[in-house]
Amino acid sequence: MYSNSNPRQSVLLKIAANGHINFEPQKMTNSSRFGENTFNDHVMRERLPKDVYKKLRDTIKKGEKLDITIANTVAHAMKEWAMSKGVSHFTHWFQPQTGLTAEKHDAFLELDEEGVVERFRGNQLVQGEPDASSFPSGGSRTTFEARGYTAWDPSSPAFIMEGPKGSILCIPSVFISYTGEALDKKTPLLRSMESISLSALKVLRLFGNTIASRVVTTIGTEQEYFLIDKAFYNLRPDLQITGRTLQGAKPPKGQQLEDHYFGSIKERVLAFMQDSETELYKLGVPAKTRHNEVAPHQFEIAPIFAEANVGADRNHLIMEVLKKVALRHGLALLLHEKPFAGINGSGKHNNWSMADSEGHNLLDPGATPEKNLQFLVFLVSILRAVHKYGDLLRMAIASASNDHRLGANEAPPAIISVFLGEQLSHILDDIKAGRVSQSVDKYLIDLGISKLPAISRDNTDRNRTSPFAFTGEKFEFRAIGSSASVSLANTVLNAAVADSIDVIVAEIEAKRAAGTELKEAVIFVINKYVVETEPIRFEGNNYSKEWEKEAKKRGLPNIKKTPHALDALVKPENIDMLLRQKVFTKQEIEGRYKIKQEQYITALEIESETFCNMVNTQILPAAITYKNELLNVIQGIKELGTLLPAGSAKTEVEIFKAIVKNIDSLELGCEQIKTKLEKAEGIENVADKAKFISDNVSDLLNDVRHYADDLENILPDGLWPLPKYSEMLFIM
Ligand code: ADP
Ligand code: MG
Repeated sequence: MYSNSNPRQSVLLKIAANGHINFEPQKMTNSSRFGENTFNDHVMRERLPKDVYKKLRDTIKKGEKLDITIANTVAHAMKEWAMSKGVSHFTHWFQPQTGLTAEKHDAFLELDEEGVVERFRGNQLVQGEPDASSFPSGGSRTTFEARGYTAWDPSSPAFIMEGPKGSILCIPSVFISYTGEALDKKTPLLRSMESISLSALKVLRLFGNTIASRVVTTIGTEQEYFLIDKAFYNLRPDLQITGRTLQGAKPPKGQQLEDHYFGSIKERVLAFMQDSETELYKLGVPAKTRHNEVAPHQFEIAPIFAEANVGADRNHLIMEVLKKVALRHGLALLLHEKPFAGINGSGKHNNWSMADSEGHNLLDPGATPEKNLQFLVFLVSILRAVHKYGDLLRMAIASASNDHRLGANEAPPAIISVFLGEQLSHILDDIKAGRVSQSVDKYLIDLGISKLPAISRDNTDRNRTSPFAFTGEKFEFRAIGSSASVSLANTVLNAAVADSIDVIVAEIEAKRAAGTELKEAVIFVINKYVVETEPIRFEGNNYSKEWEKEAKKRGLPNIKKTPHALDALVKPENIDMLLRQKVFTKQEIEGRYKIKQEQYITALEIESETFCNMVNTQILPAAITYKNELLNVIQGIKELGTLLPAGSAKTEVEIFKAIVKNIDSLELGCEQIKTKLEKAEGIENVADKAKFISDNVSDLLNDVRHYADDLENILPDGLWPLPKYSEMLFIM
């Protein structure tokens, strides 16, 4: 009876009528167009004079400083190459603290005496000047002082983003203020890569490596996401504005059947994935793995790993390309950590390792006892980093959206612990028990550690519940949010590991200076940190209640909400470490603390407003319509009086009462939310305000939504205005 005017039902009909996928013969193989839209090594060699090419390559490969005298030549070559591919504009492409990427396009266009020319100058390549005043800086500086500029990061290749009517040359850049303050997420990441390189080199030198010139951190990000039909998305203001559904009754079939994980991929989704991958390949992003995830309509894409800054850039590209291509397919891509309550959320597994300049993975236990010992030094350094700076790592993954995921029963908990796997745990236990100190060589060979990589790869990674797991030759930091930039998490991780390496190497060297032989000194110090870091090692089920209790006993923090987690940034030891490793200045730390608290406040304010708006303009009107209808029916029955048997309107009255209760509770709930937010307005200090909101509003919002969810289950289907979970997650 309502279907003619109900937009939700029209959309259902429309989607049903959609259905046909255009099959085109595959035009490309994976490698044929790979990187064709990047200014990569091949293009550089082809288009640059030999000496310029060599200088630029050294800058990139060896992390050397850019020779500014070559900038004009490089810029010119880049422009010629770009124009040959239909590019009219260029932009510095950077990562302000919004967590997104930013761009501002400029045409190559210039006017001179002769008329119009297309030019791209060295200084335009090297430096750009966006209007910085509107980006978050967290400082108390005036708009004028917050002026910033972008500077080319040659270690990440420039690329062409295709547009509908022409393409754009994107130049990966950092974003800094004129006083040298990092206004972005990338600068600190680059600094942290520098720090860990210096520290890790000390370890290599300790074990006699004189060849390696630097150490890079490598990352591979597994990106999870949801896809729903765009028509549904258009009818959900909450998804559009906040990225998640603020209302939605549980579907009768959730993920209980677990039939989606690794299931066969629907053709419509596969077509989307294939188109996305084509776009990514053109951009030089080596997308490698794709599969269905645990929840219905949830998927994952993972590229082959790269140096951390390049990997972080690529993750941004992956998110952007997926979003864009989804729209072409009439789909909406959801990157939010928890778009649907009660359904598995999305994360981003950050696979992390270190490699030396010769390409050796330093977390790959070697074939000789020395290599193994070196591996163990790195391993305990990482353990110490996570143990001592776990709260900073927790801070680095904190956001209003990730709060919905961490600690839910399907995601890593807010407790940061490390999983090593049986074999490594066994080795560390033996070291602790002193079974290794006598004959290091013999022990390592006896235990067959030299075969560690092959064996451990099978042994590890069984524990999918750990937030920080050793998976053979890398660690997997699994608690990062799906919508987040991975830069901060890697920055903090790099800094903390670098700092631990420094401490550990210093202790080994002190021992040696006192006359102890190298291996013995190393084992002695390793032993000390095996013991010290024991509390963060956990091999069991991280989702369990027992672990929460156990972690508490061990003194590990379990911080559930962002504004509290952010306090790791005001802890003196943490600040000292970040300063010592030169990844942040004091001012930058303060700025980030404020920005993150502000972002939390804004997110919660927007969610509250969006929710109450939907309640007032969509949910209550539908409920009231039905309430009035029922009232008419009940009154009609009453008027017939004794003509009908007693209790004739019983069902109608019950439904009526339930509706009234939910309507009133919703009204009241929104009033309460409003009152709390008004109270928060009066709190001057931004951190206090964020904490007040997280303690008072976030759970309230969650409680109040249940009345709306109940209404969804009571109202006639034809009256309900919002696409339901059972539709968004199962119809495509
Ligand atoms: P798993 O199935 O254990 O998660 P995969 O082989 O599928 O492992 O790898 C997951 C991600 O880890 C991929 O992005 C991959 O490129 C990345 N990865 C593999 N080795 C490294 C490494 N040494 N450093 C960083 N990332 C790595
Ligand atoms: Mg993995």
